[in-house]
Amino acid sequence: MTEPPEHRDAPSRRGVLRTAVVAGAALALPLAGTLPAGARGRTLPGHAPTGSLGDQSAVRTFTLGDVRLTYVVDAAMELDRTGFLPAVPSSYWTEHPEEVAPSGRIAASAGGVLVERGPRRLLIDVGLGANLLPASLGVSRGGALPRTLRALRVRPETVDTVAFTHLHTDHTGMGFVTAPGRAPRKAFPRAGYLVAGAEWEPFWEHQVEVGAPSWDSFMVPMSTVLRRFDDGAQVWPGVTALITPGHSPGHTTFVVSAGGGRRILVFGDAFHTPAQVAHPEWPSGPDTDVDKVLTARRTLLAELREPHTYGFAFHFGDQAFGRVGDDGRWHPVPARALLPAPIRLP
Ligand SMILES: [Zn+2]
Repeated sequence: MTEPPEHRDAPSRRGVLRTAVVAGAALALPLAGTLPAGARGRTLPGHAPTGSLGDQSAVRTFTLGDVRLTYVVDAAMELDRTGFLPAVPSSYWTEHPEEVAPSGRIAASAGGVLVERGPRRLLIDVGLGANLLPASLGVSRGGALPRTLRALRVRPETVDTVAFTHLHTDHTGMGFVTAPGRAPRKAFPRAGYLVAGAEWEPFWEHQVEVGAPSWDSFMVPMSTVLRRFDDGAQVWPGVTALITPGHSPGHTTFVVSAGGGRRILVFGDAFHTPAQVAHPEWPSGPDTDVDKVLTARRTLLAELREPHTYGFAFHFGDQAFGRVGDDGRWHPVPARALLPAPIRLP
């Protein structure tokens, strides 16, 4: 495949976001035909095009221009309001009961976002796997990613790149396959594994404790295969890295150009709940550097309010795809449900 001109040259640091805007409208590549035929034309029964914040995320897909993003869900999580979101006043939840799960916690799925353009597949993050949230932060159950991909007829060897927003356990859990007596091996055997150098180094030097992934089943095998990228790097055709540190040292947003000036920002854990979009001054309990989080959020909110710009949020209940309106709030956009949430908590 000949890459279009806007994808050939790595953009400069300042050009990251603008590159996405000026990307030409000429691309009209066919999307990889992989979803079950029956799932293409209709929404899953019982699932509206936009879901509820109080629910676990369905496996939803969103097409924009020449790119398709699918939330390949691995895990169900529920965040403890005081442990995970201590800065959000309790009165906020009382006034917004629709943002709270029936358990009283905050629904937050985990998984990866599969980005498909033409014949290529990029997977951003890989879910929770066998990890568990610390009890003080919430409850969780993961490990559904292989099942989700199988149901979508996506074979792991067809993923050409895996890129990580950050290294916390709920984003790296299914990166490697482990078996007793055998060395861990890549779960996506033909994919390059990419992470920001600014994220990798502090974890590798044991400078970060919060959320750190398993040393033996992630860090060690990752150290033998990883490719580091810097701020502004093009990590995949039409996808650039914007380092948005604070939640973790090199936390990264990926800016996905969709052609015609349209773009989607996969902003990782810069926000954990739409309440923080409306109130960016409310950090999350696990944030490493609150001042940097607030700076990152200012940058992201300015970008998300630009025309033709959408966002993807891993942990926004069943409203992962959305945009930020002139009112400064998160508004979910219609995203077709292909499969129900693969895991539910008791
Ligand atoms: Zn997370």
